[in-house]
Amino acid sequence: MKYTIGIDLGGTTMTAGVVNENYEILGKLTWPTRLPRPSKDLEKAMAELCRAVAKQCRVSFDQIEYVGIGTPGSVNFNTGFVGYNTNFGYYDWNLGPDMAALLGCRVYVENDANAAAFGEYLAGGAKGYRDAVIVTLGTGIGSGIILSGKIMRGFNFAAGEIGHTVIVKDGRACNCGRRGCWERYASSRALSEDAREAMRQDPDTLMWKLAGDLDHVNAKVPFDAMAAGDATARRVVETWVEYVGCGVANVVNTFQPEVICIGGGVSNQGEVLLGPVRAYVEKETRNITCGSCPAICACQLHNDAGVIGAAFLAESI
Ligand SMILES: [Zn+2]
Repeated sequence: MKYTIGIDLGGTTMTAGVVNENYEILGKLTWPTRLPRPSKDLEKAMAELCRAVAKQCRVSFDQIEYVGIGTPGSVNFNTGFVGYNTNFGYYDWNLGPDMAALLGCRVYVENDANAAAFGEYLAGGAKGYRDAVIVTLGTGIGSGIILSGKIMRGFNFAAGEIGHTVIVKDGRACNCGRRGCWERYASSRALSEDAREAMRQDPDTLMWKLAGDLDHVNAKVPFDAMAAGDATARRVVETWVEYVGCGVANVVNTFQPEVICIGGGVSNQGEVLLGPVRAYVEKETRNITCGSCPAICACQLHNDAGVIGAAFLAESI
């Protein structure tokens, strides 16, 4: 049996898992990332984490074929170099080569959204399909495009930023510098913001009772209120779903992947979300797809997608 280690490196925690060739996680460990700290310290901690998780799984480190890391930031997959990482405050981080020296094995580094998308492609909602696009609705919209088993990276490794395609020209300001980006309308944060705005205008909406105050509004609140029959919440959700569908229809018309997987906490809404998105996308793309719209389904691996995807990065080229 071949083993690899995948690391999902985040701003708050980092998780490493030992994975076998059947995409099964034998065991994983999560440690706090403890930012801010110098990059060399973090690298040492990550190396320790790798050795600790191997030990926990009773796999000798010699049996680990390679280590893959999914990290926020812009990553040169060929060199393992992280050019820009605002979350961590690092610039020009030589992550791949440094980790390879510390661990004595091959190390692959990829952007975290791509790594998680690849995990979902190999072992989750997109398993068994050839071409897939994975979009994660969270604070922003993360996405990964996998065509014929390979992550589409672009010549400069910056491809797959579907969240920053504009769906409303001169629309809401985005932190990427553009206005009207998809993620400003269809992320789960956008849904919470829309819900807050609707609450300010409607003192009677059930969302007040469910959230208590504006600070406790998350993407679940409007869905829960809608389920209980609240008309204002229904309007908020329906408008937001159309924005989600608008971007997904763009993905369909651009790539015609066999499947589009939607992830993020809000995807726990299941068919309440997916059904209307599917209907909207099918309606919008009918004349292009002639009725054979790609499958639209939910991601399945949740937090494990990043670890599994990172653990198979050598196959993503
Ligand atoms: Zn943007």
